Amino acid sequence: MSEPSTAARTLSGKQLAAELRTRTARLAAELTEAGIPPRLAIVSATEDESSAWYVRSLARAAQKSGLLCTLVDLGPQATTDGLRGTLERLGADPEVHGIILQTPLPPGVVTEDLTSSIPPAKDVDGANPVSLGRLLAGLPAFAPATAEAVLALLDHHAVPLSGRHAVVVGRSTVVGKPVSLLLLARDATVTVSHSRTPDLAATTRSGDILVAAAGRAGLITGEHVRPGAVVVDVGTNPTPDGGLAGDADAATVAATASALTPVPGGVGPVTTALLLLHTAEAARAAGEARR
Ligand code: NAP
Repeated sequence: MSEPSTAARTLSGKQLAAELRTRTARLAAELTEAGIPPRLAIVSATEDESSAWYVRSLARAAQKSGLLCTLVDLGPQATTDGLRGTLERLGADPEVHGIILQTPLPPGVVTEDLTSSIPPAKDVDGANPVSLGRLLAGLPAFAPATAEAVLALLDHHAVPLSGRHAVVVGRSTVVGKPVSLLLLARDATVTVSHSRTPDLAATTRSGDILVAAAGRAGLITGEHVRPGAVVVDVGTNPTPDGGLAGDADAATVAATASALTPVPGGVGPVTTALLLLHTAEAARAAGEARR
């Protein structure tokens, strides 16, 4: 666990996550009363312990917010066809409102071959290419929850975005690309960097806002940060002692940045809370469509 040690403001996600959970619990209670108890289904196919831990904690969080949760674990021998069949069955089940396909998947199974099988209306983690395309087009869709969490956290802490230069480190479909689109939609000027960016520090130092989503513990140090910049650390890298480290080297980054999100306790809890809110919203939309 790493906490900023100097003057940078800590942009915690805990209060925002609690507010989102309250909204979700209210909505879930109303929907349950109306005979539409929101249900999240999580499909997994791995023996990876950190993935199993995440699924359990998400299921617990869902139940605490008054959501039902179905866990479907197909095990590490699962095939593309088996997973696709499960997603299609859950997609057709009127009692399921949100579906998450948990990664990692077994060797040889490609996430992108499966995400189209999650109906966009139930795609609470914005994984289906249709959801991503709608995000690109500026149309309503569930955004990938982590990317949305970054923006929600910046808004919660009143960090202005319009006209600011945001540098994103990472270009994955789940984090880097969608967070770049969301920042662009909020009138930030966006630079996306990745493993082939020749001088990462020179690129990241040009950012007023730096979003680190590389999955490399300690990659971002003080020398990567413009003095006074706001740093959002998306990285969750397991440490040998069983903890979590961000992509930012908190001590040196906090000495240069004006604000930094902690790991854990920053983007992570907001992401979880948004997945649950999306599920309750999907259930509400399903109820409205039925009327
Ligand atoms: P990913 O699919 O592995 O993508 C990592 C990205 O970072 C890639 O685009 C890669 O570049 C880039 N990268 C890797 N090393 C780099 C380096 N040395 N310099 C510059 N760029 C580099 O990972 P992801 O799924 O996006 O996740 C990123 C991190 O966010 C992970 O730590 C993950 O655990 C965390 N995460 C957190 C949450 C949360 O709720 N807090 C949710 C999801 C993910 P290339 O494209 O060139 O390979």
